Order: sequence, then C-alpha cells, then structure tokens
Amino acid sequence: MLDLAIIGGGPAGLTAGLYATRGGLKDVVMYEKGMPGGQITQSSEIENYPGIKEVVTGMELMEPWPEQCMRFGLKHEMAEVIRVSRAGDGFKVLLAGGEEAEAKYVIVCTGSTPKRAGIKGEDEFYGRGVSNCATCDGFFYKDKEVVVLGGGDTALEEALYLANICSKVYLVHRRDTFRAAPNTVEKVKNNPKIELVLNSNVKEIYGDASGVKGVLIEDNEGHVRDLKVPGIFIFVGMNVNNDVLKQEDGSFLCDVNEWGEVIVDLSMRTSVEGLFAAGDIRIEAPKQVVCAAGDGATAALQVVAKSH
Ligand code: FAD
Ligand code: NAP
Repeated sequence: MLDLAIIGGGPAGLTAGLYATRGGLKDVVMYEKGMPGGQITQSSEIENYPGIKEVVTGMELMEPWPEQCMRFGLKHEMAEVIRVSRAGDGFKVLLAGGEEAEAKYVIVCTGSTPKRAGIKGEDEFYGRGVSNCATCDGFFYKDKEVVVLGGGDTALEEALYLANICSKVYLVHRRDTFRAAPNTVEKVKNNPKIELVLNSNVKEIYGDASGVKGVLIEDNEGHVRDLKVPGIFIFVGMNVNNDVLKQEDGSFLCDVNEWGEVIVDLSMRTSVEGLFAAGDIRIEAPKQVVCAAGDGATAALQVVAKSH
C-alpha cells in the first residue's frame, strides 16, 4: 500500500512529490505517461516563472525538477494511469498494462490540453507565433498586432488581456454571435483596440523559419483577407484530462463541474475523502506553472498532515 500516488508529472505533480517526500512520506510514486515536466516543456519561451533571470525554454525550466524530487525519495513510474477508484479507505490505481497499485491517498495532477483548430500551419508554427496562452506569450507581442481565434469566454477574455499589451487585436470568430458571457462581449465590443472579424475563419497560418508572418482569413462568402501579424492566439476550447477519474459505469469518482474540471476547496480536497486534485485540472485554475506548483504543494501538505 503506497502512502501516496500522484497521477501526472507536470509542475503540480512534481511539486506534490517534493513536498510529500520532504514531509516524511516514505512510499510516494508519481505516475507519468511521458517524460516528467508537463505541457510547459512544449513552450519555447517562458519568462513569468518567479526567479528566472532571462527567458528560458519550458524544457530548461523543468529539467532540474525531477532530480530535486528524486533526491528526497520520490519514485517515478513511467506509466499511463487508466483509472483511480475507491478500494476500502484508500484507492486503487489501474495502469495501462493492467497492473494495479493501492494507495492511501491520491493527488490527481493530469492537467489540461488546449484543443487544436485544425488550421493549415497551426502545428508547424506552434510555439513560434501560434499560442494557446495569452498570459504566457502576450508580452512577446507588446505593441504589435495579433489575431485571436474563438468566440467563447476564453477567447474574449484573452483578447481583452492582449488589448492591454498589443497595438491591435483582430478577434476572428466563425459566427456573428458569441458563446461568451454578455458583459464580456460588451467589453470586447467597446474596446477600441479590438477589431471584430465575424463570420470568418482562419484559412492558413504562414511564415518562415523565424516564425509566423501572417494569417489568411476567409469569410463565409469566400473573401480572403491577409493579416500580416507575427502572432495568433487560438482559443477554441480546452480538454481537461479527467479520464482517470471516470469509473467503469461512466460516472466520475468525485464531483466535477459542467466543463469536467474537478471541484476542489482551497486545500485542493475533492468531494472524496483522501482524493486531491491540483493544477490545470481543477476549477478556476489560472493555468500557470507557478499556480500548478502551488496547488501541488498545498495538496501534498494536506496529505502529510493527515498521515502523521
Ligand atoms: P500539465 O503540465 O498538463 O502536466 C500533466 C501531466 O500529466 C503531463 O505530463 C501528462 O503527460 C501527465 N498525464 C496526463 N494524463 C496522464 C495519465 N492518464 N497517466 C499518467 N500521466 C498522465 N504557464 C506559465 O506559467 N507560463 C508560460 O509561459 C506558459 N506557457 C505555456 C506555453 C504552452 C505552449 C503551453 C501548452 C502551456 C503554457 N503554460 C504556461 C501553462 C502551463 O504549462 C500549465 O499551466 C502547467 O503546465 C499546468 O501544470 P499541471 O501540472 O497542472 O499539468
Ligand atoms: P468554448 O466555450 O467551447 O468556445 C470555443 C469557441 O471556439 C467557440 O466560440 C467556437 O465557435 C470556437 N471554435 C471551436 N472550434 C473551432 C474551430 N475549429 N475553428 C474556429 N473556431 C472554433 O471554449 P472556451 O472559451 O475555452 O470555454 C470553455 C468553457 O469554460 C466554457 O463553458 C466557458 O464558458 C468556460 N469559461 C468560463 C470563463 C468564465 O466564466 N469567466 C472563462 C473561460 C472559460 P462556436 O461558438 O461557433 O461553436
């Protein structure tokens, strides 16, 4: 029986591992299906993690984290977790190969994944002008023009954020009405730096070895507009990686909201005793490395306190 199973080895999972092992827990296993580090390792530039003196790649930022945790006894198992379920007072962790482990406590840190729009050039220029994170990358486009794609709350809120930094924001949406909350739509419509490009979609993102040089926008009547911008922010929805919480009957192990985000309190406790969620997977996650790390620490400190 493990003292603690951590599912996911991004900033939340690694920090949970650090705090749990330094807090004296002996058998702590972090299950990570790939290399530890999480989604930030896809980023070519990060400059808002406290304490870094210059822009680093996500890979550079995360490289020392696993070693630091392992020093205190965290065990890393490279395995995909299929399901976490209740087993007595503890939990059963089912792995992809059919193997099972039992743990007294579980912290789920499986993160989230931005949806792709499926546009030509989107994958090619991802991280070189194509972004899913305005808080992370907006500053790189200070006083420049950018495109935002999407008509939901995220797209409109991020467009407003970018309008504070960029010289102009083209908000491209495939319809002429929005999913976003009416007051957010009002704010966007009243912002002089945001131009609405409605009934339109992005046809292609083009560029060269240095990155994005522009995007082609096509309206519903087939008219094409060439916007020569260095950046495009795509917000067409997020997938919360909550599959591990889905039970055999299709229900979730703990309470989730309408978007599948795990409902937690300020201690990262879920609705199930002994089960915690940390990082991008939880409700109202700011979706930042520093916040995910903080969540991981909070959850692990709870487990440590309960274990002594
Ligand atoms: P993740 O980092 O998503 O980690 C989850 C981990 O769980 C992954 O490693 C995944 O492989 C693993 N996992 C998932 N399911 C399973 C399973 N079933 N079994 C085993 N393992 C599993 N934030 C900033 O603060 N600043 C930035 O500049 C910044 N830039 C970004 C740029 C990009 C391109 C992206 C994609 C994100 C950026 N972010 C940035 C956001 C930041 O990366 C996330 O908020 C943060 O990584 C969330 O951490 P997490 O630990 O909750 O989840
Ligand atoms: P969302 O509500 O699903 O909106 C996605 C948007 O992207 C939609 O406008 C959709 O267009 C568009 N879209 C989807 N696929 C596309 C494609 N391939 N090409 C072009 N456009 C595409 O996603 P979200 O904005 O990330 O929000 C997710 C959930 O979180 C929502 O329920 C949202 O309300 C919630 N949220 C809430 C807040 C808040 O309350 N402050 C903040 C952020 C998010 P259509 O509209 O035409 O389908």
